[in-house]
Amino acid sequence: AASPTKSYNITLLPGDGIGPEVISVAKNALQLVASLEGFNIGFEEMHVGGAALDAVGVPLPDETLNSAKKSDAILLGAIGGYKWDNNERHLRPEMALLHLRGALKVFANLRPATVLPQLVDASTLKKEVAEGVDLMVVRELTGGIYFGEPRGIKTNENGQEIGFNTEVYAAYEIERIARIAFETARKRRGKLCSVDKANVLEASTLWRKKVTALASEYPDVELSHMYVDNAAMQLVRNPKQFDTILTNNIFGDILSDEASMITGSIGMLPSASLGETGPGLFEPIHGSAPDIAGQDKANPLATVLSAAMLLKYGLGEEKAAQRIEAAVLDTLNRGFRTGDIHSAGHKLVGCKEMGEEVLKSIDSKT
Ligand code: ATP
Ligand code: MG
Repeated sequence: AASPTKSYNITLLPGDGIGPEVISVAKNALQLVASLEGFNIGFEEMHVGGAALDAVGVPLPDETLNSAKKSDAILLGAIGGYKWDNNERHLRPEMALLHLRGALKVFANLRPATVLPQLVDASTLKKEVAEGVDLMVVRELTGGIYFGEPRGIKTNENGQEIGFNTEVYAAYEIERIARIAFETARKRRGKLCSVDKANVLEASTLWRKKVTALASEYPDVELSHMYVDNAAMQLVRNPKQFDTILTNNIFGDILSDEASMITGSIGMLPSASLGETGPGLFEPIHGSAPDIAGQDKANPLATVLSAAMLLKYGLGEEKAAQRIEAAVLDTLNRGFRTGDIHSAGHKLVGCKEMGEEVLKSIDSKT
């Protein structure tokens, strides 16, 4: 007997600015690959950010959060815009993202940085150095110095003001992010580099010990360690040496921005935020780009590639993910470029047309 058709629920959060434009493109791509791979996707489109403030007066309405929580995965466009910039803190669109991440307990942030051969000129690095870079930063997102207690500003015994934070990691926090990193490396080229400052920081010493202890469970993954200062240098000196990088919250914040600049194209970069169980949150790394919103100028490929990550890491639909990734490359090979990645000799298109070309590429590769 034929097995029943698999069915997934995806919560779509278009948000603000260029969010709705790029989400619409990604939704079409998801729908098409689902039909080609023989599974169903049900979409629930909900308000978030400024769009939610305008509609119901809060940045993350209960209906939105409930939909997200019971979904199989969430695809988000972008949040924020000039209109709400002077709102008081709890009524800022960006609060929606913090609340959403917290409620979904997504402690693992995955940010690939890939220099596509078609866009190697966009890189901030020399061509020889940039060519072929394909790495993934796995950043711990809910612990470390950003959340550790005690923290504050106080006056010490000499009457000096002192500001202080605490880097805290419990063994379980290190182990769960390390497992995601080992599994990510396993799905890639099997190389994991754990980045810490174990020569100076106690939390890093524990980090290195726990990551090392897990390695025996992943004999197919080659583990190495690097101090963060060296890693920052190696990323610009020879980024090709990296496959998967595992690191804590603050080092990951810095290194993932550094890695994204290697590729030089903000409109191309996706991300995933994963928890232990429950749905993952997938979104482009760029913001709402209010300067080009509503003008059909946005590059939808970062969101399309986020949809590919959703299929791969969120639903385990690897073949569908590969179809999308291949289609993005094919569309670039056929010469189509939005303004942010355009250069002489290519066809300048808008967001919609880029989306249509991606659909054609998906279709032609079947
Ligand atoms: P955030 O909202 O995360 O703080 P930001 O305001 O710093 O982000 P973005 O909104 O990402 O920055 O925009 C930075 C610049 O990049 C803008 O000039 C914007 O137009 C451009 N940009 C961002 N995303 C895209 C895209 N998908 N396509 C084309 N240009 C983009
Ligand atoms: Mg912005």
